[in-house]
Amino acid sequence: MRFLPVFLDLQAGPVLLVGAGELARAKLRLLAAAGARIRWFATDGNHDVSGIAAADAARIEVAEGDPLSADLRGVIAVLCAGAGEIGTAMSARAKAVGLPVNVMDDLAHSTFIFPAIVDRGDVVVAVGTGGASPVVARRVRERIEAALPAGIGDLATFIGRWRKAIHHRIPEFALRRRFWERVVDGPIGALVLEGRKDEAEAALKDISDPSAFAGAQPSGRAEGRVTLVGAGPGDPDLLTIKALRALQDADVVFYDELVSLEILDRARRDASRVPVGRRVGKPGIGQDAINRLMIEAARSGQRAVRLKGGDPFVFGRGGEEVEALRKAGVAYSIVPGITAGVAAAAQFEVPLTLRHEALRVTFLTAHKAKDAETVDWSTLTDDKMTVVVYMGMTAAPSVRDGLLAAGRSPQTPVGVFARVTRPDAQASVGTLDDLPALIEKIDNGPAILIIGDVVAHSAPWRQSNLAQLVSYFQVAAE
Ligand code: SAH
Repeated sequence: MRFLPVFLDLQAGPVLLVGAGELARAKLRLLAAAGARIRWFATDGNHDVSGIAAADAARIEVAEGDPLSADLRGVIAVLCAGAGEIGTAMSARAKAVGLPVNVMDDLAHSTFIFPAIVDRGDVVVAVGTGGASPVVARRVRERIEAALPAGIGDLATFIGRWRKAIHHRIPEFALRRRFWERVVDGPIGALVLEGRKDEAEAALKDISDPSAFAGAQPSGRAEGRVTLVGAGPGDPDLLTIKALRALQDADVVFYDELVSLEILDRARRDASRVPVGRRVGKPGIGQDAINRLMIEAARSGQRAVRLKGGDPFVFGRGGEEVEALRKAGVAYSIVPGITAGVAAAAQFEVPLTLRHEALRVTFLTAHKAKDAETVDWSTLTDDKMTVVVYMGMTAAPSVRDGLLAAGRSPQTPVGVFARVTRPDAQASVGTLDDLPALIEKIDNGPAILIIGDVVAHSAPWRQSNLAQLVSYFQVAAE
């Protein structure tokens, strides 16, 4: 991001516009309609403002003389449109005194640029592409226009009018936020969006105890809770809508090392972010400490999110955490996520079950060779069973030996799928006897192993010449 969207207070002073022709007039219309005061140097001397509403035109001050020697005191921004070389010189002047300046279609001389705008009164959405493509910005804008209820601006205005009064009655910040969430998400918000403002007003006035409405506990604090959220395998688009909502409502997020930064960025901006997973070369803080942190956060009235890679209940220790929360009497809920094995299957086209070929799926973990020793491989002999192995990179040789000893064919297709759904995802496919060599081809984890005939249907398998090789072996065996 090169350009940070910020909002300029048009009441703070005039905007200086330098330029002429249709380009300058387009900016005049935009600024005037937004309510700006404009000091306009028309570089061709033509100050015609026809086509601009009289009330807006009244805020346009016609400036004479050379803009390059104009008094810049009190000016809040400088804009050049259709100003030719004067624009470049004006930009240097503005920069010298630290004023934000935009020279139309000239990124090199601009310190700010105009976003595409969705304007719903008090609700304004700015869309930018860093100047790269106004067309893309406009398309994004169209989508936002379509998604936002028409009355959203009225809702913001409505709340704005009540803010002070409620601030007074609910001094505690967290509780006040819940109050407004309940207003916005509940019947009062719906009334405003339907244009029934008087009824909304009456309903809000009717709330005799705003703290109770906000869900205050007997302690007077907001009710704290913990939400275990599955963050999916890495691609932020694979978050569920519920997961997004939990992240947006969170006061604090305890996250694992598997959670990608892009996903963490979907959390509410003011939420504290606490890493609790293992970091490269460093141990984690331990399960007991994580449980304690979650319990403390909830007891202090916070909404904590425990964000985990994949699904919380698939090799995620979610079960233990829920038990600790239950014992502590802390309210909790669980939002499932897309587990790595399922995501790998989708990305690389491995049907985990397939009529006649794979009738069962087993998810197992083999973190260390020691774990692999404790697996009862004899339950995995069925060649119509797909085996998905989590944390299996280091123990791959034991996984292979276990399955071979249990009688699975050395020719069973296997896939190693690393960093699935991330931009640098990687696959390596082959046969069971070659599993350790397949792991060698993977740059780094995390990686999931899928073992079973269905891997022969996967995209990487079809793209490799293994397809021919294996059918050759099958023919030879017959
Ligand atoms: N709860 C997680 C699993 C955590 S155990 C889930 O449901 O996905 C950690 C193991 O998950 C890793 O060792 C690896 O086997 C697997 N894993 C997690 N994210 C992955 C990814 N993006 N690509 C491949 N494997 C992944």
